[in-house]
Amino acid sequence: MLDQKSLSALVEAVKRLDDGFDKLPDYESGAPGIGGLPEVLNATAERMRDNYPYFHPLYAGQMLKPPHAVARLAYALAMWINPNNHALDGGRATSAMEKEAVAEIAGMFGWKNFLGHLCGGGTMANLEALWAAGQLNPGKKILASEQAHYTHGRISSVLQLPFESLPCDARGRMDVHALTKRLERGGVGTVVATMGTTATGSVDPLPEILALRAKHGFRIHADAAYGGYFVLAENLEERAGRAFARIGEADSIVIDPHKHGLQPYGCGCVLFRDPGVGRLYKHDSPYTYFSSAELHLGEISLECSRPGATAAALWATQRLLPLKKGGEFARGLELGRKAALKLFEKLRADSRFVTAFPPELDIVVFAPRAESISETSALSRRIFESAARHELHLAVAELPVSFWKENLGAMNRDRETLICLRSVLMKPEHFDWVERIWELLSKSTEEILKAGN
Ligand SMILES: *Cc1c(COP(=O)(O)O)cnc(C)c1O
Repeated sequence: MLDQKSLSALVEAVKRLDDGFDKLPDYESGAPGIGGLPEVLNATAERMRDNYPYFHPLYAGQMLKPPHAVARLAYALAMWINPNNHALDGGRATSAMEKEAVAEIAGMFGWKNFLGHLCGGGTMANLEALWAAGQLNPGKKILASEQAHYTHGRISSVLQLPFESLPCDARGRMDVHALTKRLERGGVGTVVATMGTTATGSVDPLPEILALRAKHGFRIHADAAYGGYFVLAENLEERAGRAFARIGEADSIVIDPHKHGLQPYGCGCVLFRDPGVGRLYKHDSPYTYFSSAELHLGEISLECSRPGATAAALWATQRLLPLKKGGEFARGLELGRKAALKLFEKLRADSRFVTAFPPELDIVVFAPRAESISETSALSRRIFESAARHELHLAVAELPVSFWKENLGAMNRDRETLICLRSVLMKPEHFDWVERIWELLSKSTEEILKAGN
């Protein structure tokens, strides 16, 4: 099942890369222990078997999407050079590729003149965005919703910025009414709008937040680490579509190519609408920037050494699958969303389950119906385990009872939060596998419900 066919393209490409250095005198690498390599590599493969099958459509749990073969191979190819995108001295080609690939991502949000770069992931990218926000609005509050990624509270504490979280509405989106009231009290420097929350894929009401910015004046940071690519999807419901259409009006955006962008881990991206924020990064390195007066990415990034391989992988992927509405990549996102809607409809129509709200992106949350919330919560965990025994891999999440309210019926509300099952349907293949997923879920649920009686 694991792709091996594409490996021959790598052998070809390594030869092509090698040809680029044919003016050097011949040299054979003297890596020690090379004779034992096959055995150790096989031992590594055996250790790696101890994983959930993230690559397979029956892995429908956490946010895990396999990298595209071209990303994997371009990354591996770059390993024969191991460039460092901190400075042009360490990664000439891959620095240029990073600038091109990041410009394509910014272009997706309608930005031409911007500042941005890749970094280790969404956490690092958000750290840079909040660091800039704190420098530009010193001493002022950072606001994010209760469903925003926990990283914002933690990063604010690292940066020693005052942070406050705001309640969500019954669909997991920032409550505009609560935001309005909070803004009236003053002292707010930045509002984090989550464009696709990590738990449920809920999209914060960006148009309303933009209207409030016009009145109160604060920075808007769009955390689109998960949802950013959905700006290309043409099958969102109207409200979410309107929010994504205006993402370019935010002051900064974070997007994770290693979530929906088909990249290996270690690929986040931070973008600033005003390239002037570059001045905040100013530093004096006595030793890194000698080879060129051109921009070294380390001059606009908090991280120093960074893998150029990440840029090679992203550049190659976007060359194969351009970030265009109606393109093949966009179609993949649309299929995941269609899969989520299909699964949601099946769950909603089945009295054994209780659902929260229809998915705004491609994440579905649901739970088995029981007498009480604590019973439902316990059953969720058991169904998670039973499904895994049938090779269907889901995830478990804990969500506020308010998300389920409309659908709980006579259920005894003996807890504030409900432990539910969560399925992130982020592979395009998920669409063709919904029936099979449903069949296995039904079977696992039946087993657990029977055992309970
Ligand atoms: C995943 C995620 C993050 C954290 O990003 P990492 O790449 O895991 O460091 C931040 N915000 C949101 C909305 C996310 O989904």
